[in-house]
Amino acid sequence: MYGQPRLALPAPETHDNHRPVDLSGSSQQACGPPDGVIHPDLSVLIRCRDGILPPEREAAIRIHLAGCRPCLADYRRLCLPPAEPTHPPDPGLLARIRSSIRNWEAQRSGAGWGEAVKFRTAREIGPFLGNNGARILLQPVSDDGCNLLSTIEPVLGEFLGKRAASELVSRVVEAAIVRTL
Ligand SMILES: [Zn+2]
Repeated sequence: MYGQPRLALPAPETHDNHRPVDLSGSSQQACGPPDGVIHPDLSVLIRCRDGILPPEREAAIRIHLAGCRPCLADYRRLCLPPAEPTHPPDPGLLARIRSSIRNWEAQRSGAGWGEAVKFRTAREIGPFLGNNGARILLQPVSDDGCNLLSTIEPVLGEFLGKRAASELVSRVVEAAIVRTL
């Protein structure tokens, strides 16, 4: 199951004990489920973990985590130590990525291309973020996939640390983009 979170949290309870609070990272309200509860996004959970939210915001997040098992599972995953890279970066990979991206720019207008790349990207980052976390992270990626890397790299960088994130992004490019060409 999950490892021990670094920060102690109260046991989960029901949502009935508190009012819905806007915990999203932006002013958008559209992602809330039918019960009206707004779940915090990954970047908010990361800032909560790092103790850099305003105290009243952090308190609201902790109340939410106490009553929401999916968010608590995401939070606990974020508190695990980052995965260590298992192999050194491939020095030839960068050149392959550059030429592949040039080809990609020329070809990416094909129907279904963006969806296919998002699917493969989710498969690559799922083991690190969990399938639900990967799905949430990829939601803002446009259908043509043109903002894929700019969307995932900052969040992965916060989550995994810059070096591990850049390795993972390279792996995503290799597996999700280069092999599609
Ligand atoms: Zn939640």
